[in-house]
Amino acid sequence: MASLSDPTPSRSVSDQVEELLAHEGPLPIVAAGDPVLRRVAEPFDGQLDPGLLARFVAALRATMHAAPGVGLAAPQVGVDLRLAVVEDPAPVPEEVRRARGRVPLPFRVLVNPAYEPVGRARAAFYEGCLSVPGWQAVVARHAEVRLTAFDEHGRPVDEVLTGWPARIVQHETDHLDGMLYVDHAEPRSLASSQAMAERWNEPTPVRAARALGFALPE
Ligand code: ZN
Repeated sequence: MASLSDPTPSRSVSDQVEELLAHEGPLPIVAAGDPVLRRVAEPFDGQLDPGLLARFVAALRATMHAAPGVGLAAPQVGVDLRLAVVEDPAPVPEEVRRARGRVPLPFRVLVNPAYEPVGRARAAFYEGCLSVPGWQAVVARHAEVRLTAFDEHGRPVDEVLTGWPARIVQHETDHLDGMLYVDHAEPRSLASSQAMAERWNEPTPVRAARALGFALPE
């Protein structure tokens, strides 16, 4: 895994992706501590030809499904490009859907994405990351954002997202700026997967905030 996520300067990103795709099955996911997750990723400007880009996107999608997760950024498989995939079928109970705004987000590819807040509202919920396995923490994020990006065919994307789709897009775009969700999480909210399953598997973190001693936005 170290050799996959540690490209030497002489190796092109195209060669690196070809090498990754030479192996069967889901791509290895890079864990926190690898510098590739802390770099500002390179803008995509055709480093992968259309055929290779399509194969890489398919592999990212398969890896996201296998994990399973609702988003995966290229640096999470060791590739230094501003590229991510997102997809959330949102198979959650109605009360969770209402509390978190977790509505289905169809599969999409984000090329060179950026976001900016719309309004000042913030929403705080537990989230996790495939590169920080075994843990979750509460992150207060913009409740509504304007996403600008390109899709995998180079068509511009410009739309306003709320609820869980807004959270997913912020999380994945942050990856491309070398940020992990733990950077702006409530430290006292940190919970193992076991604690999440046993204690905090509920629509909002209100009870966890009281019990663990962290603040939620107004
Ligand atoms: Zn992540």
